[in-house]
Amino acid sequence: MMPTMLQEATAFRCPVCLAQETAVVRPYRSGTAPSQGPFSGLSIRSCEQCHAAFACPLPQENELEVFYAESYREERGQSGGDSRPNAWDGGSVRARAQVEFVLEPLRFVGSWLDIGAGHGLLLDEARRQQVARTGAIEPDVHCGRQIQDAGHHLYASLFETKTSWDVVSFSHVLEHLTRPRQFLKDIQRLLTEQGHVFCEVPNETHLSESPRDLPHLLFFTQASLIRLFQESGMTIVAVSSCGRRAPETGWRNIMREGARRASQKLFKQPPRWIDRRVHPHFHYHEDRSAGAWLRLLARKA
Ligand SMILES: [Zn+2]
Repeated sequence: MMPTMLQEATAFRCPVCLAQETAVVRPYRSGTAPSQGPFSGLSIRSCEQCHAAFACPLPQENELEVFYAESYREERGQSGGDSRPNAWDGGSVRARAQVEFVLEPLRFVGSWLDIGAGHGLLLDEARRQQVARTGAIEPDVHCGRQIQDAGHHLYASLFETKTSWDVVSFSHVLEHLTRPRQFLKDIQRLLTEQGHVFCEVPNETHLSESPRDLPHLLFFTQASLIRLFQESGMTIVAVSSCGRRAPETGWRNIMREGARRASQKLFKQPPRWIDRRVHPHFHYHEDRSAGAWLRLLARKA
């Protein structure tokens, strides 16, 4: 059956601000992966109103579930499973930087729920910083077990977390979703009266230079990320661009790598001043288009 004009218009609507004025900017780059599943043959459209870019047509939720279940299995097959990252691994460094970003403006955080928690590193760090109650949503069974072994509460879905939370976070999750506005609405119901939402996404200001899009569906600039939270009825508390888009080269990089290696021998858990010196996760930019990632903290309006 031919789609009607109305259906077509809705399909190409901006998932961030719902504007109808969107245009194809280029084909979706799915790379050389043998199984591209729901990502094959897509385009990237950009919204003329908010400048968010998005994959089009957006895949069906059930297709995505199958894709992620299979790619998780592949990943586990390669890495052989259960080892947990140490304090110097990228995931742990990112967790420290993110918790610092959230706790700086907030005086007290008693409970923290992390969605897409992976190995639970963010929650480990939150607890190290005196957050008393920690919860996670993580579909991967192996990771889920690690999270529980570490003493965090594991929930199967958003709707199972009956209590409210001072912070709900999702790092590198939002760009994988087809319905970000609905997601933010669901999240807000989980917040305490003074509750905050934290998120980190890739900074896609330079999307045209990106070699591979898969498996992302939404591509945010700082402006479109702010717009999404505002449209969902939230107030922005802080937003920053951090990390390095391209690895540093030359003597600076040699110095930094040297300092990092030397410190690794000295400290099992890197102190703050070392983190700031040697890890890009702690490197913030004045120019919001410059960093590799965008961090945002928002509260209920
Ligand atoms: Zn838009």
